[in-house]
Amino acid sequence: MSSDALDPVERLAALRHEFGEHGGVNMSIEASTTFTVMEAGTMPDIFNGRLGPDAGGCFLYGRHFNPTVYVLGRQLAALEAAEAGYCTGSGLGAISSALLGLLDHGDHVVASDTLYGGTWAMLAEFFPKKCGITTSFVDMQNPEAIKAACTPRTKVVYTESLSNPTLRVADIPQLAHIAHTAGAQLVVDNTFTPLAMSPIEHGADVVVHSLTKFINGASDFIAGAVCGRADFVGSLMDLHLGPLMILGPTMDPQVAHSISLRIPHLPIRMIEHAKRAMTFAKRLEALGLQVGYPGLPTHPDHQLFSRIGRPEYGFGGLLTIDAGTRERAEALMDDLQNEEGFGFMAVSLGYFDTLMSCSASSTSSEMDEAALASAGIRPGLIRMSIGYTGSLEQRWLQLERALTRNGLV
Ligand SMILES: *Cc1c(COP(=O)(O)O)cnc(C)c1O
Repeated sequence: MSSDALDPVERLAALRHEFGEHGGVNMSIEASTTFTVMEAGTMPDIFNGRLGPDAGGCFLYGRHFNPTVYVLGRQLAALEAAEAGYCTGSGLGAISSALLGLLDHGDHVVASDTLYGGTWAMLAEFFPKKCGITTSFVDMQNPEAIKAACTPRTKVVYTESLSNPTLRVADIPQLAHIAHTAGAQLVVDNTFTPLAMSPIEHGADVVVHSLTKFINGASDFIAGAVCGRADFVGSLMDLHLGPLMILGPTMDPQVAHSISLRIPHLPIRMIEHAKRAMTFAKRLEALGLQVGYPGLPTHPDHQLFSRIGRPEYGFGGLLTIDAGTRERAEALMDDLQNEEGFGFMAVSLGYFDTLMSCSASSTSSEMDEAALASAGIRPGLIRMSIGYTGSLEQRWLQLERALTRNGLV
């Protein structure tokens, strides 16, 4: 979509810098919900979106556009090689808005059978009941099944760049081709792989993010973003049918400001998350554990990730360990948190410390047993978001000791 061949970090550096009101190196927070119109006659055009801040007019109302939120949206667009980006109050706010912007009553979605639990519930339960939008869940590794699931009403093919928590890699170029052939658009949730993957460069139409995770990095804000073509992102703000405007999952400018200041060190953080995850994954595999990490040559999608990803940012900060049973998984996590101080038992990811959870009984618990089984989410599967506090060797010793004490190695 973007005509240049810049790396995301180079695209970010090429953005116009927003100085603070008094020349501060950081932009000011625009804490106003409403904006002064200088000439009464321009009000109708501003209201109808014909005279926005980019067209010589002005901002109107904070749910519509806020300059501080807008800056973060531009950063996200640069990150994702998109024409435009807009930020929302949560990842699910971004996902629901993007989908409702593309789908009407009676339309159909073909989605990955391995999705973040909240997204799964939105597609499997909320949309059919509340909006008359149905979804077929299929294995994204099976192109024939995806093609077979498409109907004339299929408007969206939906996947996560890296499936949660099974860490299978979506073949974005292939999925884009299938979606476009079927007359649908490809929407990719890139929450797990900012920088390491740029789905729009491989043919995706829309990228959604939960900024709550790696992009923010400190587990202190819930936030999301939608990136795509300028006309699509603009349509989400339509006064009549725009889901961002009408349903109002608006991001607070104070949140936008805080997250915006963390974007410059996102590359450094992602590289360190990935370096440590890779080191642990290799050592765990060498100890004979069932470990899932796309950076391992034994991972089924290692070649694919190497081809469509950006190896300089690594293979992501998440890995999985299959402890066999839920009880063994829980005992290991207890030990790692309470005896070793290795990390925390908590859902979510992308924090500076390691976070661990047993997916089947936590973040994927919206899925029923059959859905869990078909997605390969086994009861003893521990998902770890590897942090970068402490030294790598200190953390490895903690992990190795806990594994030994629990009889896993
Ligand atoms: C957390 C998460 C979401 C939901 O984001 P919120 O910010 O919690 O609303 C969606 N997709 C993925 C992959 C996630 O990890």
